[in-house]
Amino acid sequence: YSTGINDLEKLGDLGSGTCGHVVKMLHRPSNSVIAVKQMRWSGDSEENKRIHMDLEVVLKCDNPYIVSCYGCFINDADVWICMELMSTSFDKLSKLVGGPLPEDIIGMVALGTVRALHYLKVRHERMHRDIKPSNILLDSHGNVKLCDFGISGRLVNSKAKSGNAGCAAYMAPERISPGTSGHRDYDVRADVWSLGISLVELAAGTFPYQGCKSEFEILSSILHQEPPKLPNNNFTPEFHSFIEACLRKDYHQRPKYNKLLEHPFLLRYASKNVDVGAWFAQVQSNLSKNVAESHRTKVDNNKKHD
Ligand code: ADP
Ligand code: MG
Repeated sequence: YSTGINDLEKLGDLGSGTCGHVVKMLHRPSNSVIAVKQMRWSGDSEENKRIHMDLEVVLKCDNPYIVSCYGCFINDADVWICMELMSTSFDKLSKLVGGPLPEDIIGMVALGTVRALHYLKVRHERMHRDIKPSNILLDSHGNVKLCDFGISGRLVNSKAKSGNAGCAAYMAPERISPGTSGHRDYDVRADVWSLGISLVELAAGTFPYQGCKSEFEILSSILHQEPPKLPNNNFTPEFHSFIEACLRKDYHQRPKYNKLLEHPFLLRYASKNVDVGAWFAQVQSNLSKNVAESHRTKVDNNKKHD
C-alpha cells in the first residue's frame, strides 16, 4: 500500500512504555483500524543504524506468532511503526484478572512465545531483547503473538545508558554482569530467562521482584539470589520443571528453543486445544458483571439513604 501519514486518523490511546507510545488509528484508504507505535530516535547514530536494520527485519517477518507489521514512517525525529491491532496484552490481562492466570492460558503464552522466538532466531538470526508480558499480545481470535523485538530493546538499551533501564527486572544475569570475554557475552538464552520471569509473573499475579525498592536492588537480587520460582498453588510438575529450566542462572545450563520445544510442558500445549479467546471473553464478561453489580449496590445504597 502506498500511503502517507495524512491517511491516518487517531482514534485513541493504547498505552505507553519506556520508549514511546502506541495509538489506535484509522487508515482511511483501506478503512481499517491499526495500531501505531510512535517512538523517538535515540541520540546515537550507530545505534540508529542498527535500528534501521532491525526495522527491515520487522517488515520481513511473516509468522502466525508475531504481530504483523504493515510498514513504517520515518523522519528526522520520529519512527512510526504501523502494525496489526490486537485486543490486549498480558500485562493488562494480569491486572484485569487481579491474580494468577490459569496454567492452560500461561501454557499457550509459553508455546506461542517460544515458537515466535525460535522463528526469529532460525529465519532472521535475531534475538528479541525485550520479552515481558506487555510485549505478548492477544488478538480477537485468541491467538498469542509477540511484538516489539529488537527495536524497542535497542531504544530501551540506549535509554538505559542514561540511567533509565525500564525493563531491568526481566534482564538475565549474564546481561547485567557480562563475563570477561567482552561486552556481548550472551545469546538467545537471555530471552529464555526473560520468558521465565514473565511466566512466573502471570502465574503469581504479582511481579517476582516486587519487594525491591530500587532498580539497583532488583539487579542485585537477580545476580545474588536464588532464581524466582512458581508459587505452590496447584501447578503441574511439568510447569515447575519448565520454569526451573528457563531460570537457570548459569546460561550455559539453560536450554535453547529446540530443547524447550521438546519439553513436556510445551508438548502438552502443542497438542491440547485451549481456547484462549473464550477465556478472554469470560474474563471480560465477569468484569462487566462486576461493574454492573457495584453500580447496583451504589444505587441500592443511595435508595437506603433516601
Ligand atoms: P511497553 O511494551 O514497554 O509497555 P509499548 O509502548 O511497547 O510499551 O506498548 C504500550 C502498550 O500498548 C502495551 O502495554 C500494549 O498493551 C499496547 N500495544 C502495543 N502494541 C499493540 C498492538 N499492536 N495492538 C494493541 N495494543 C498494543
Ligand atoms: Mg511494548
